[in-house]
Amino acid sequence: MSYNVNEKGYYGEFGGAFIPEMLYPNVEELRQNYLKITAEPSFQEEFDSLLREYVGRPTPLYFAKRLSEQYNTKIYLKREDLCHTGAHKVNNTIGQILLAKRLGKTRIIAETGAGQHGVATATVCALMGLECIVYMGEVDIKRQAPNVARMKMLGATVRPATSGSKTLKDATNEAIRDWINNPLDTYYIIGSVVGPHPYPDMVARFQSVISKEIKAQLLEKEGRENPDYVVACVGGGSNAAGTYYHFLDEKDVNIIAVEAAGLGVDSGESAATSALGKVGVIHGSKTLLMQTTDGQITEPYSISAGLDYPGVGPMHAHLFASGRAQFISITDAQAMDWGIKLSKTEGLIPAIESAHAFAVLDEMKFKPEDIVVINLSGRGDKDLNTYIDYFNL
Ligand SMILES: *Cc1c(COP(=O)(O)O)cnc(C)c1O
Repeated sequence: MSYNVNEKGYYGEFGGAFIPEMLYPNVEELRQNYLKITAEPSFQEEFDSLLREYVGRPTPLYFAKRLSEQYNTKIYLKREDLCHTGAHKVNNTIGQILLAKRLGKTRIIAETGAGQHGVATATVCALMGLECIVYMGEVDIKRQAPNVARMKMLGATVRPATSGSKTLKDATNEAIRDWINNPLDTYYIIGSVVGPHPYPDMVARFQSVISKEIKAQLLEKEGRENPDYVVACVGGGSNAAGTYYHFLDEKDVNIIAVEAAGLGVDSGESAATSALGKVGVIHGSKTLLMQTTDGQITEPYSISAGLDYPGVGPMHAHLFASGRAQFISITDAQAMDWGIKLSKTEGLIPAIESAHAFAVLDEMKFKPEDIVVINLSGRGDKDLNTYIDYFNL
């Protein structure tokens, strides 16, 4: 069984490109060029050099000594929180902006929920001197004021999405509408392993630097490339795809995907797509999707804006359906408690998204000799107000 994408853009039965006729030329241009361009030595050199000099890669693989003692197993943290802008998302936006430039595009659009992808996109647009328009739900603009301010400082225009629930999926609809209207000069930077083929594969490849580094770092520290477990939180699934990528076909590596259960999987306030989702099409891709019996998308909920998405990328839908990955849902309360616990145990304040991943330590049993790599996808600065309100800090 293959866990990677096939030539038609599918992971098993998931993926593909379900797009309006009007978008076909844009997506087709990308599909025909992304592998060719990203394989060029000059692309590779510029990508690697920016990841090194601008993002700060390689990020450390940190042995969490106190946490390991408490849980009687070997726990390593991949420190994506140390990336410039505070999370893994910039790995992808750097890759896509280099691709956009080589395709001759001059105008960049993006959608954002929590604002993190918007900031990562605005950052690389400033770096390259390109116009940047970020669509964001009106509700999210209010919830995420510091990130809106960051985007503005970086020179981006933030356009509110005022339809529907005024959150991420509505912002995505607006961005798609913009792209249809501006097919020639505009490049659409998608922030996760979602959207029509080739986006999920392209984003996974840009993020795969995470697992490439983990292999080299583990070899140096432990004398073997493969851990026993890799763990990551899944919103759309880009940090997880990057963490799993070079281990997909390594059968000795257990893959753990952590979703947001919100107030509880059966509470009606959840974003646990694998538990609640059915096969459907969202944002151009066939995948698992939370929906009503007549196919309306269900409003997801999680305290972490980055996991508050009603679907997962097609790679993850396939990892779930094939049983290659084990999916676990973690509630708001468990994740928030881990926000404090990781801070006090290791001096690391995690993004609330990332905090979800750590709760597997309470849900699963690991052996003393196991090597467990948890991806610390981002730092918690952006979530300080949520932590303050939740804990009355
Ligand atoms: C955006 C975000 C996520 C969720 O997005 P994925 O595409 O699932 O990785 C997770 N962690 C952090 C810190 C984020 O900013």
